[in-house]
This record gives sequence, structure tokens and C-alpha cells, in this order.
Amino acid sequence: MSRVAYVNGRYVRHAEAGISIDDRAFLFSDGIYEVIEVFDGVLFDERGHLDRLARSAAELRLKPPMGEAALKFVLREVVARNRVRFGHVYLQVTRGAARREHYFPAADTPPNLVVTARPHDPVAGDAKAHKGIAVITLPDIRWKRPDIKTVSLLPNALAKQQAKEAGAAEAWLVGADGFVTEGASSNAWIVDGEGRLITHPADSSILSGITRARILEIAAVKAIRVIERAFTVAETYAAREAFISGATMLVMPVVRVDGRAIGDGAPGPVALALRGAFHDPMTSVG
Ligand code: PLP
Repeated sequence: MSRVAYVNGRYVRHAEAGISIDDRAFLFSDGIYEVIEVFDGVLFDERGHLDRLARSAAELRLKPPMGEAALKFVLREVVARNRVRFGHVYLQVTRGAARREHYFPAADTPPNLVVTARPHDPVAGDAKAHKGIAVITLPDIRWKRPDIKTVSLLPNALAKQQAKEAGAAEAWLVGADGFVTEGASSNAWIVDGEGRLITHPADSSILSGITRARILEIAAVKAIRVIERAFTVAETYAAREAFISGATMLVMPVVRVDGRAIGDGAPGPVALALRGAFHDPMTSVG
């Protein structure tokens, strides 16, 4: 079965899908995106992702390509046409195609919308979580609005590649003030000596993860204490546990940071409990 993509009103073979070389995201990274987990055929936390998409669009003064009901229909159609039961749906909206000029194009320029879907193996994800991953720390060289989910991901891609070449799976980005902001494609968490979860506040220096919000909800239900504050690299080395969160990896334990073992060097019980509860409706509020 060949993959199917949605491009501006048409469902096309993924391999043949394309948009204009004048697309604003191609020229200026003038576009936004979302990645939504498909869990047992359901778009998990869809509400949070669509709200964040609307916020990203508003921050960049980007026109939504269609109404929410139509968008939800397209997302489901792409998931169904690709027969994804467990995986992800990716959507990207750009400011459309126009002659290359920094100024916004004419107001009637239609935005471009692309939606794709991809299956993943949930068993492989769990196996990885039970081993844990390594992380390295790197300077956070991104622009000052990483709270907007734009496709402007060059510093993130460079950091991720550097991590890979160092034998790690993720890079934790460290601001000029010495505090960890987040991962190159995830939010960053530690568990301190008292069992409290610590993660950077959702201000303009991180992306406010939908998975992060879900973890806060689970923590509230399970009476796990949470402190939303920035933490340092030294605190990370001394942490009892560390983990990352995101729609593609959910809760992924971190067992090494910059080559140092975190805790006893194995995935921690808090991270594994949060992962285990992730899709459990009993840990949802309302
Ligand atoms: N931070 C960054 C920089 C990301 O790219 C991502 C996900 O792609 C996240 C955090 C986690 O966000 P979410 O939980 O909504 O997937």
C-alpha cells in the first residue's frame, strides 16, 4: 500500500506530493506545524494540538487554511487512508506561495496545507523506554520565540544531529543563564531528591508541549508534586531521574546526560509510572 498525503484539497500519493518552490515555508520557514499521536485509531489530545495550532497561527498572523471541522475531517481521512492505528499525523500550514519578497504576500494568497500520517510500533517505543536514552547538553541558539511551533527548526536539527554523533538520542538546550530550556524536539524534566517533578515554566523560551500538559494532569491525579521552574545542568546531573516528553516519544526516560549516569543509570519509577498512565482515562481530569 503506498502512502497518501493531503495537499491543498487533494489526496495524492506521498511520493508524488509537492508544493510550489515559491512556498513561503521553503523560502522563509514561514509556516507552522503540529504532530498528533494516533493511539488505537484515535487522535490523542487533538483538542490541545488544535488550540496550539490556532495560537501559532495567530502569533504569526497566518490565515487558517480551513475551519476546524473540515481540518478534523482531513486529519481523520489521512489517518484512515494510510491505515494508521498507532502512529502520528503531521500537519503543516504555510503562508502560501508568492514571489520571493520578505513582506507578507497579498491578503488573498491562499495558505498551503499539507497533512501526512505515519505508523509506528508502540512495542518498540516501550522497549526503548525500558532501556532509556542518553542526552547531551548544548547551547540554546534558537530565536526568542520557540513557544510558537514554527517549521523554523534548523538549530533544533543541528543539535539533534550533534547528539546523534555523540551517541545520544536528544540534546537538552541550555540558555545563556545556564538553565535548561527544553530538548531539541521535546520538553525536559527531572525528578529531584524529594521525588518532585521539575520542568521549565511554559513561557516564551520553550514550546508548551501538549504531552507536557498531559503529564501535569497525570501528576495532579496521582498527587505527584510538580515545580515549574528552570533547572541547571548541575541539578540535572544530581537528579534522581530525568526524562523527556513529546507526542512522538510520550514519556521517555533519560539515563545518561553528557556521559554521566542519572540516578542509578536505569529508567526511573516516576518516569515509567507516568508513561504507563499516559493513555489511561482514569488519570484524566474532566
Ligand atoms: N519542545 C520542542 C522543541 C518540540 O519540538 C516538541 C515536539 O515536537 C516538544 C517540546 C513537545 O511538544 P508536544 O508534547 O506537543 O509534542
